[in-house]
Parts: sequence; structure tokens; C-alpha cells
Amino acid sequence: MSAGWNSSTRAPDAEDIASCVACGLCLPACPTFRLTGRETASPRGRIAAMRAVDEGRGEVDGSFRTMMDECLACRACETACPSGVPFGRMVEAARAQAEPGRAPRGRLGRRAGLVWLLPRRRAVMTAAWVAGLGAATRLDRALPRRHGTARPPVRLRELARPLPRAQGDQGPAAAVLAGCVVSVAYRPLLRATMRLVAASGHRARMTAPGGCCGALAMHHGHPEAAQTMARQRIAEVDGADVVVVNAAGCSAHMKTYGELLADDPRWAERAARVAARTRDVLELDLAAREGSVGAVAMHDACHHLNGQGIREQPRALLRAAGGEVRELADGGRCCGAAGLYGVTQPELSARLRRLKAEAIAATGAPVVAVANPGCAMQITAGLAEIGAAVRLAHPVELAG
Ligand code: SF4
Ligand code: SF4
Repeated sequence: MSAGWNSSTRAPDAEDIASCVACGLCLPACPTFRLTGRETASPRGRIAAMRAVDEGRGEVDGSFRTMMDECLACRACETACPSGVPFGRMVEAARAQAEPGRAPRGRLGRRAGLVWLLPRRRAVMTAAWVAGLGAATRLDRALPRRHGTARPPVRLRELARPLPRAQGDQGPAAAVLAGCVVSVAYRPLLRATMRLVAASGHRARMTAPGGCCGALAMHHGHPEAAQTMARQRIAEVDGADVVVVNAAGCSAHMKTYGELLADDPRWAERAARVAARTRDVLELDLAAREGSVGAVAMHDACHHLNGQGIREQPRALLRAAGGEVRELADGGRCCGAAGLYGVTQPELSARLRRLKAEAIAATGAPVVAVANPGCAMQITAGLAEIGAAVRLAHPVELAG
């Protein structure tokens, strides 16, 4: 067992569970524990539930599912834990374990999106055009929506503009992940990424738009679908000197491809190679253009801070581009985006969204740097809810 989930039992690894000594030092870092004060909404409580199931003292029932679903998988507990407990992969495994017994209605919808749609690149692009058409004609407003649920800003005009699939003709070969959400809803970011990666001495080549890395499926209990998407992306990028990813959740996930496919003899070696060569774009030595970015509030994505230890790089890049970086109060707290969290846990997500939006507005900066599309959607919704006119941009867009 090496991927944090046991492919035969679809459960957290017993060794991972045993590494928790129940000291509770992670509790103050956990957003859901801080909001609710419940042990069952804490990392220690969740691991205790995993242990009970593993030892046959507990069942994978409704309360187990709720405990795992309420988790943001933000991995703040991992950063805080002195024992090195790999909580992120444990909760992903527990969700895979919990998936079969879910109510059919919710389960079918999730399967349609995570297992059927996302591995089909062309279907993703078709769905994007349909969403863009709905937004352009305002027909999307007729659809039932939970209040405040964040949504991708898909625009027909942007979809119609071709993306630069190749840029730069010298230096190491860089495969730039187009991704799913980024390539349909954040295309200016993809253009800025290609420009900056090429300007920083790479032969940048973009993967096909719509191709998902599989993070969302892994995050929400579908490891087999995540493996399918990992193989698709590996086939596209293997051979490049560096694999460049501009979404925090995706770069963190692609670095686990080696673990995800470790038991697949046909793909294990390639997966380990791609994982080793994957870099978040903010980990590259980027040549920021001299500029006057000015005051900018800094939002750290959980999968940068906790998943990859990326904190100083975006700040350095913004300062090089003339930015005056303003820190958020309680900046390490998750914004509540967390994949489908806004749909599965709307109340907790809304509370975290509001806290984040208020912290951003309190800096007084006219722009906030955000390096993950899920956070960007959530923060856009949060700022609108409190009526704050703050522009969002990825650090690469501001500096490139
Ligand atoms: S996850 Fe780490 S910090 Fe939290 S209770 Fe377990 S050992 Fe302690
Ligand atoms: S991943 Fe985040 S929400 Fe989940 S237990 Fe850890 S700190 Fe709490």
C-alpha cells in the first residue's frame, strides 16, 4: 500500500491511522473544529472514526460519512501535526470507503460529473460552451441554485479565442497543464502562464484544453476515475523536462501521481517520473516584468501552504513586479471552496467564505492574489456577498 488508500479495500491505510497519537495539537489549526467546537469535526475525531472502522469497532454509516464530508481536506492539520500524520490522503481514502453507501440521488449526480464527464475532455469543452451560452443568454439564472454557491465564470467570447498552444523556442521543454476549470473559465490565466513560462526560458507547450488532472475525483471518493485521468495526463506530458501547473489543487495532486499508480505495472514508472517533474508555476524561477502592481492582498491556497509548502514564492514574485503585499488576518484558514464543499456543506462553506471575504476587504487593497480556481470562484462569491469591490488575479497574471 502506498497511495494512502488500499485499492483492495478502498480504505485508509492502517499504518497511516496508527501514526496519529491523538495528542490534539492539530485541533487549533482545523477550520471545522474552530467553527463547530465538535471533536467529531476535528482531525483527531475523524482519525478516531477511521481507526474504529479499521478495527471493526465502528461502521461506515451516516455519521462516519458526515464526519468525512465536513472535512475540507485543507490539510492544515498535516502542517500542524508533529507526528507527520498524512491526513489528506487518509480522508480521501475514507471518502472512497464511504462512497458506496451514499443515497442514490446525490451519488448519481457526483458520478455523472466526476466519473463520466471529467475524464472526457471533449465533453468538458462541450459543457463549457453550453454554460457559456447559458450565461450569455441569462438562461442560467432560471436554474435552481443554492444561495451563494460559487460558479465558474465561463464566457463565450473567451472560449472562442484560441489559446497559445506553443510559446518559446529555447530552453527546457515545459508541458503546461491546460486543465479543466482553468481552460474553460480562467483562460487569461493560461495565456499569462504561457507567456511568463516562455519568457523565463522554457519551450512552453500547452496540453489539450479540458483535460482534468483528476484531483476533484480523488478528493470526492472516486480514486479509479482519478487514476484514469492521471494516465491521460501522463500520456500527454511524459517526456517534458518540467510539467507546469497553475492551479494549487492540481499541482499538489499531480505530485501524487507516483503514489496513485504505484500498483499499476504499466504506468508506475511514468507516473513517478511525471510526479517528480511536476512544479507549480510559482515554484519556477520566473522573470517578473518590472511593473507597479501596487497594493495586493495575498490569499494562500491550502494546497500551496499545506500540500506543497509554497508561501514565499508568490510574495517574492509580486514584490519583483512592484507589489506591496498585504497579509490577511488568519490567512492560513481555508476559504471554504474545497472542491464540492459549497454544494455538500453549504452552511460551513458560507461561513468560511464570508470570513475570507471580510479579511480580504479589511486589507484595503484593490486586488487580491489567488492561485487556485476553486478559491477564486469562492472568493468572488464572498466579495460579492459583502459588496466589496476587489479584483481577483493569479500572481502570474499580475507579474507576467
Ligand atoms: S493528527 Fe497529529 S497533531 Fe492531530 S491528534 Fe493526531 S498526532 Fe496529534
Ligand atoms: S483537512 Fe482541514 S478540515 Fe479536515 S481535519 Fe484537517 S484541518 Fe480539519
